[in-house]
Amino acid sequence: MITVFEVKNYLLNISIKYGNCSKISGEKTLKKLFDGIINFKENEFLKYKDHFTSLRRKQEPHTLFIGCSDSRIDPALITNTLPGELFIVRNIANLVPHYRETAEYVATTSAIEYALKVLKVDNIVVCGHSNCGGCNALWNENILKNSPHTKKWLELAIPVKRNIEKYYNLRMPDVIEREWMTEQFNVVEQMKHLLTYPEVEKKYKNKTLNIMGWYYIIETGDIFNYNPDSRSFELIQHRDGP
Ligand SMILES: [Zn+2]
Repeated sequence: MITVFEVKNYLLNISIKYGNCSKISGEKTLKKLFDGIINFKENEFLKYKDHFTSLRRKQEPHTLFIGCSDSRIDPALITNTLPGELFIVRNIANLVPHYRETAEYVATTSAIEYALKVLKVDNIVVCGHSNCGGCNALWNENILKNSPHTKKWLELAIPVKRNIEKYYNLRMPDVIEREWMTEQFNVVEQMKHLLTYPEVEKKYKNKTLNIMGWYYIIETGDIFNYNPDSRSFELIQHRDGP
């Protein structure tokens, strides 16, 4: 059994030895992480051992899930899916950059490209959520005064802000209503951005790709699905009949 991997070509003097957590800042959280790994291996992993063995050399996810980095969102948990089913890209406020050819390092764009061209997923989900800090920052720019990259990133949601400003048209906004509206409009805006990707547009038009927009409520576990006919988010729930 391999217990140590040697990477002697790399000289790097950071990281923490397991068992060496005491008197280090964040001691409790470090211990929690390491204990979690051991607990996973001894319990959860064993439950799915055959499943993990089947995934040893391949993945065939059916869905690209574009979600927020928010720590309260767990894509696999809320969709009751197993490892191997979702190809996941997460970023602040579940944003989708417009398609462009660039020499920059582009995480979300490359994840979308890889999901479609290499993994050939059937579905793309853009999933927003309640109490989204990224969406909230659109209205409270002070929060980001020392976070220039986050501020820049959130420019991808500026059309949402403009839309909502137009809706209120100088009226005092109801802050809670505006929060929900921002988060839901943002999902739709990012779905629109998805269609700027030639591969997405082609597959969507050929009906070989489904695109969905979801809105997840943290405290209830409800997920609402965007209905383009009614232009509203509808609760996903058991339906009577076929
Ligand atoms: Zn969020």
